[in-house]
Amino acid sequence: MVKAVVAGATGRMGSRIIQNILKTEGIELAAAFERKDHPAVGKDVGQVLGLPEMGIPIEDALEKVIDKGDVIIDFTFHEASLAHARINAKYGKAMVIGTTGFSKEELSEIHQLATQHFPLVQAYNMSLGINLLYKLVELATRVLGQGFDIEIIEAHHRLKKDAPSGTALALANVIAQTLGWDESSFRFCREGIIGQRPSQEIGIQTIRAGEIVGEHTVLFAGPGERLELTHRAASRDTFAQGAVKAALWVVGKAPGVYNMQDVLGLK
Ligand code: NAD
Repeated sequence: MVKAVVAGATGRMGSRIIQNILKTEGIELAAAFERKDHPAVGKDVGQVLGLPEMGIPIEDALEKVIDKGDVIIDFTFHEASLAHARINAKYGKAMVIGTTGFSKEELSEIHQLATQHFPLVQAYNMSLGINLLYKLVELATRVLGQGFDIEIIEAHHRLKKDAPSGTALALANVIAQTLGWDESSFRFCREGIIGQRPSQEIGIQTIRAGEIVGEHTVLFAGPGERLELTHRAASRDTFAQGAVKAALWVVGKAPGVYNMQDVLGLK
């Protein structure tokens, strides 16, 4: 039985991950924690999530619970996930990080720590559909990329803290790598007298509104035709199920950085 420690236990994702652990065979909730000043600290996980009492209090630091688990599942905040990875480097537990909004330096440090000390599944989007979309976008880019303009449009709920979404950036990277371009081709939003669109450009547009769980469209527009590939998440359970799948997969793996393509066998 894999024992999971869930970070950010009362968050939108943390709470869905706990619910999904409870209904998945082969994995159990060993501990849960929140940030230090969170009002749920000290309360029972079950009580906070509207479930029967579970006898698991919400702690206020990873150090207090890390010994109890085989894997830490972390969907929190970029600075918090980096701090957790630094702590875990001393323990070598498996990790699943779904947090977005990392700076390049933060992500590179997390990847470096994992390469040396623990197996990590890190992905900006844990849904099966999005991970298949990466493949479809790679194929469409190979076929259409040279003569077509490529734009990414992402939409999320009004509370999302970072923009553009990590998934939009991951899609842009798939396109750039396929075409042999780099990040200087990314064009975030547009305003004013922008002139003609350069060919070597990947537009990335952000929408923030209401309760949209997560939508991504990659648009390929060429002479006389347009192809749009769209993924719409209807519920956070799609990400939570992916995170639990990743947790079951990553325990026992060699230190290193893995992604959902590894977990889902899409490589
Ligand atoms: P949220 O704000 O609802 O939840 C984050 C939780 O983390 C909060 O409860 C917060 O108190 C807690 N937290 C913050 N700092 C902490 C710390 N130091 N220690 C412990 N807990 C801490 O946000 P959310 O919508 O659940 O999203 C969380 C992250 O996951 C975001 O970066 C989001 O973009 C990302 N996300 C990823 C995927 C994916 O598939 N990879 C899907 C959805 C969301």
